[in-house]
Amino acid sequence: MSTPRKSAAKTATESGPLTPMLAQFLAIKADHPEHLLFYRRGDFYELFFDDAVAASAALDNVLTKRGRHQGDDIPMCEVPVHYSYETYLQKLIRAGFKVAICEQVEDPAEAKKRGPKSVVRREVVRVITPGTLTEDALLKSTAHNYLAALARSGDDFALAWLELSTGEFSVTPTSAGEIGATLARLGPGEVLVSDTLIQAPELFEALADWKPVLSIQPSGLFDSGAGARRLRDVFGVATLDGLGTFGRAELGAAGAVVAYAQDTQKGALPRLRTLSQIDPASIMAIDAATRRNLELARTLSGERAGSLLASIDRTLTGAGARLLASRLSGPLTDAPAINDRLDDVECLQTGGNLRDDIRTALRNCPDMERALTRCAMDRGGPRDLAAIAAALARATTLRALLDGQDALPSGLTELARDLGHHQDFAAALAAALAPDLPMLARDGGFIRAGHNEALDTLRELRDESRRHITRLQARYATETGVAKLKIRHNNVLGYFIEVTAAQADALLADEATFMHRQTMANAMRFSTLELGELQRQISEAGDKAVALEQTLFADMVAEVAVLGPDFARAAHALAGLDVAAGLAHMAAQSGYCRPVVDDSLAFAITAGRHGVVDAALTKAGEGPFVPNDCDLGAGMHLWLLTGPNMAGKSTFLRQNALIAILAQMGSFVPAASAHLGVVDRLFSRVGAADDLARDRSTFMVEMVETAAILNQAGPRALVILDEIGRGTATFDGLSIAWAVIEHLHDVNKCRALFATHYHELVALAARLDDLANYTVRVKEWDGTVVFLHEVAPGAALASYGIQVAKLAGLPGQVIARAEQVLTEIERENQAGPLVKLADDLPLFTTQTAAPTQPVASSPALEALRNIHPDELSPKEALELIYKLRGLLD
Ligand code: ATP
Repeated sequence: MSTPRKSAAKTATESGPLTPMLAQFLAIKADHPEHLLFYRRGDFYELFFDDAVAASAALDNVLTKRGRHQGDDIPMCEVPVHYSYETYLQKLIRAGFKVAICEQVEDPAEAKKRGPKSVVRREVVRVITPGTLTEDALLKSTAHNYLAALARSGDDFALAWLELSTGEFSVTPTSAGEIGATLARLGPGEVLVSDTLIQAPELFEALADWKPVLSIQPSGLFDSGAGARRLRDVFGVATLDGLGTFGRAELGAAGAVVAYAQDTQKGALPRLRTLSQIDPASIMAIDAATRRNLELARTLSGERAGSLLASIDRTLTGAGARLLASRLSGPLTDAPAINDRLDDVECLQTGGNLRDDIRTALRNCPDMERALTRCAMDRGGPRDLAAIAAALARATTLRALLDGQDALPSGLTELARDLGHHQDFAAALAAALAPDLPMLARDGGFIRAGHNEALDTLRELRDESRRHITRLQARYATETGVAKLKIRHNNVLGYFIEVTAAQADALLADEATFMHRQTMANAMRFSTLELGELQRQISEAGDKAVALEQTLFADMVAEVAVLGPDFARAAHALAGLDVAAGLAHMAAQSGYCRPVVDDSLAFAITAGRHGVVDAALTKAGEGPFVPNDCDLGAGMHLWLLTGPNMAGKSTFLRQNALIAILAQMGSFVPAASAHLGVVDRLFSRVGAADDLARDRSTFMVEMVETAAILNQAGPRALVILDEIGRGTATFDGLSIAWAVIEHLHDVNKCRALFATHYHELVALAARLDDLANYTVRVKEWDGTVVFLHEVAPGAALASYGIQVAKLAGLPGQVIARAEQVLTEIERENQAGPLVKLADDLPLFTTQTAAPTQPVASSPALEALRNIHPDELSPKEALELIYKLRGLLD
């Protein structure tokens, strides 16, 4: 969140007479107390007062002073307009500031006409905030940057999001419990929340992660009635019925996004794509903790490298990378839609040279989506037009490639259609533009020579006059006898003749021709009527040429605007092709298979791999990665996975969750085969760190996340639980793990993988029909443990914790002492843990009723009499308890 500095405007009311410029600054600043005001003066943006202090600290820029106010110097910080001002902006926005750009909006000559003391009129033309960026220099090409808004109406919540740089605009109904997950999916750059909603206690949790990007707004901004009106205006429709049926919260959220965008952009909105209404049920629900744990888009340390996204990204364009990221963050739940995407990937995976040809055509294809938006917002430059022309040319090539195919799946056919037929437009645009283009249209020189006759004439005139000047210099040198006479140019004098002071006499002697203009330390400067006339011709022709270019530029932008929606579709199709071809390329390179996705409850993976770990092992020359099967089908939808430390339990758990995500985003998966019934919610509790920001210990975080899973997971969910309960005392942890398994089995009835070091839990399989025991196998070899990384039916016999500690390099005497302590504990606790567990058993057997009448004699009592407790291992004792229980039944 920006940290608004003490408003300089406040001091204005207390001030005495102000200079006109200061008065103007303070008046404008009063309207922008929350923003750093970039006040334009000539070639610089100037910041004053607290803004200057804050900016100079953030930018590491010199803090100077300009004038005085109320007896104090006014602090000032300058940012050059033409030289890398976007770099400065980027730093300030990243530091959490919002910047108001205040430009001169009239010619200084006009201002002068109002009197010598009048100041040039200035206005804020735009407020730049983290969620409203459009410039390439301020945006990551591969990542979305959404402006989101959260609104509530009664018990209903809604979240809307807009990407200003592409015009993507969506809204979804949500709930207090789901807001965190939806925000985590989008990762917005800025979130608008009303000053009342921010105080709602039920949102504290969901918004805690988003504090740095929250932008608190007056609640009026979220009014649903005003929102509906604004949306009708923006889409130019009399009713919103054609777009969908929106609840009041949705209208409030979508309206707030548009209002904020209009306000910060001073009305210059991009062409918004239609408002898509996202049904939350159409996307696999993945909460923020699961996303983090599975390292989907970022690793736990916050890097993109090493994440699942980075490992599957073979896209070649920024727009493709952005589309891939949003598909990965929102896997689908509709099996036919998933299969459509898989059809496209399969076609390109197997389709001869088609994939390579597509990828060749996409390489270095410019970002048309963002260029189109800048043009639509009047922020475009000649390079944006060139980008559009080049991208349309690529679209033509790709269309021809796809049209040449016999049978394409429906997705690719649709993409081919959306690429359109824009070759004539692209060719005309490219023919109009010069090979080397300036950044800004106002710099001129971007129309290709020969394209416009009038422009060519003006340029010839300008260039001819420049040649005249060279000739004139030669003539004056001959006439005056000063061989070193030079004609130079600067912004103050324009063109002038310069000779050294010693040679000046020759010119001073001819006063009728050479008019003295300036005396320098070593030189004298003159002008002549002839030179003045040439200068007039040059600047007139130059000005006229630039003015004509501006008109031509505006015409071209207007033509682009007319076809804007078609071009935007083509841009989107380019991104879609990039994603499909990229995923196909990855599947072919890495040996991924097409998953079978349907509406069953299957989860059958053979020879599954963890793509990221597999690639890392290969890269490091370690490995090979050992593939493993996983079947959570009927009779075993809950797997209890035991195995020593470092055996590969977490890797196995994660790889199955990642396979589900990949399959449902429409990607091939790292396995020999995979059959998946659609997963509607994915939960993963894999390790946790202290959450000091929320004042929570590791164990508390673990329990909060586990509670969410047990409360929300339905029969279509996939749950991954790793070492639940390890963060507390052994018996507390074991009891919690025990009860959690029972709950998952009996109440949630979902597909689940549960890894644990509590080997006592394996006894549960005797009682829970759908629980299957699996273990990651190891071999003991010469006192050390060898990890096989093979998942097989059964239970682990030991934890090998001390052996692993030895491998990790714990000092020898510590290892020896630990072994000694372990032997001692095991001997003393022969009956200990079991006895305690047996005492506690009623806690775990709440599902079955205990006998109410004492039984005089029974097979169970008989068996009990034959027990020798001191000879039993804990595992045998526990098994015995179940046997006894069975005898009673
Ligand atoms: P702990 O119980 O200590 O958390 P763990 O059983 O969860 O350990 P992992 O963290 O999953 O073990 O894996 C340990 C290491 O083993 C990983 O860093 C990985 O390099 C390697 N590994 C895991 N699975 C495999 C596999 N299937 N094939 C090859 N190497 C593997």
